[in-house]
Amino acid sequence: MTKTASSVWNECLSFIEDNIKQQAYKTWFEPIKPIKLAGEALTIQVPSKFFYEWLEEHYIKLLRVALVKQLGPDAKLIYDVRMENNYSNSNPHTVKFPSSNRNPIHTSQGVNAPLDLNKRELKNPFVIPGIQKVKIESQLNPNYNFESFVEGDSNRLGRSAGLAVANKPGGTSFNPLLIYGGVGLGKTHIAHAIGVEIKDKYPDKTVLYISSEKFTQQYIDSVKGNTRNDFIHFYSMIDVLIIDDVQFLSGKTGTQDVFFHIFNHLHQNGKQVILTSDKAPVDMQDIEQRLLSRFKWGLSAELQAPDYETRVAILKNKLYRDGVEMPDEIVEYIAKHIKSNVRELEGVLISMIAQASFNRKEFTLLLTKQIVDKFVKNTKREVSIDYIQKIVSNYFEIDVNTLQSKTRKRHIVQARQLAMYFAKRMTKASLASIGSQIGKRDHATVLHACKTVDNLTETDKQFKKYVDDITKKLTF
Ligand code: ADP
Ligand code: MG
Repeated sequence: MTKTASSVWNECLSFIEDNIKQQAYKTWFEPIKPIKLAGEALTIQVPSKFFYEWLEEHYIKLLRVALVKQLGPDAKLIYDVRMENNYSNSNPHTVKFPSSNRNPIHTSQGVNAPLDLNKRELKNPFVIPGIQKVKIESQLNPNYNFESFVEGDSNRLGRSAGLAVANKPGGTSFNPLLIYGGVGLGKTHIAHAIGVEIKDKYPDKTVLYISSEKFTQQYIDSVKGNTRNDFIHFYSMIDVLIIDDVQFLSGKTGTQDVFFHIFNHLHQNGKQVILTSDKAPVDMQDIEQRLLSRFKWGLSAELQAPDYETRVAILKNKLYRDGVEMPDEIVEYIAKHIKSNVRELEGVLISMIAQASFNRKEFTLLLTKQIVDKFVKNTKREVSIDYIQKIVSNYFEIDVNTLQSKTRKRHIVQARQLAMYFAKRMTKASLASIGSQIGKRDHATVLHACKTVDNLTETDKQFKKYVDDITKKLTF
């Protein structure tokens, strides 16, 4: 039987699948397409440069063994990197030669590699040679460094990408590096750590950490003060720009626009951009498409909630740093009960230390339990859509069935719209799921309800009072 790219690759895959974890296989091997077999050279198509680098770093040995089994000792592997976002459409892909598999898998000679679109060779025409660098305060918190950041499965990708960026700012394909994840999982910490590490390694580089909120404010001020150009100029001089919580830019078109231009300028000049967000790019709302597509150029790494072992390690690390000793059973109790958020883990520790030293108490399990309970109660009271409907119905003195009914009586319609509005604001449910739970309406109805409530809150004092009252009832 003659070998084809697919047949060879399928054999390789079954070997690889037997040798790595299912999840890793799915993530890194399923997306690969075999596209060409020429002699002993197999060309595979990978979705991004990052992907290629990841394979090279983590799986090259395995690939080599698999390929040699199929094609003999002279097997060659060629990557075809599909670029999702080209600068020009004329060049649909680049061919990449793996650096680390020269032996025994030789890189194919004589294939002329098309322009590597990821190499930013464009020179900035605006840089005047010899111009003095202005010293810019980095705004970094030195305590947020890699040393104090405990590694775990939940953060490994983000952490190692962060380290890679810190080693070679602007010189990896992780540009921009977007770190995203829920509240209190360490986004800000990693963002600072990258900056701190870069400052340490490359003291001459201009690093700037800024929150999106502050960035927005500065931009607004610059527009007011007629100094928009200075604003842009300032940001264009930075070597490593770290912007925290970019989800805050949602809906702010002016700021997004200026950021887009700054981003392009920095990126084209090989400068590093690091972003954090509480959402993945696909879930960001009211962020311009062209900006979102820029975010996807580099690497998006998710921080997940730490597992139990990592939680214990984080607590112990913190205790060690603070010079406090605490029995293991107590540390374990905290780690067992506080699961979703590292900031809360730290919060419990701080409360414990405060309580114990105030009252000259020992760290007891009872004290721990009381403090943990408080934290869990305060945060775990995630409101449900049912609860919202109950509170809203009570407030208007109707019952939940009436609220859900098809009636068009104005005060009932309003109550229903308020319930939808709060469900959207206070739960993670989708519009469709909110609609189906509140009287089997569709998502458009819920969207309309949210808009109506927004409008009425601005124009109608009485209505605003409803919103405020219900908010209080729902949050206390
Ligand atoms: P986010 O920006 O994602 O909301 P932060 O970066 O502010 O979260 O982290 C919250 C707190 O938890 C900070 O004090 C941070 O130092 C700490 N923290 C988060 N992850 C870790 C970790 N892996 N190791 C040590 N401390 C961590
Ligand atoms: Mg943060």
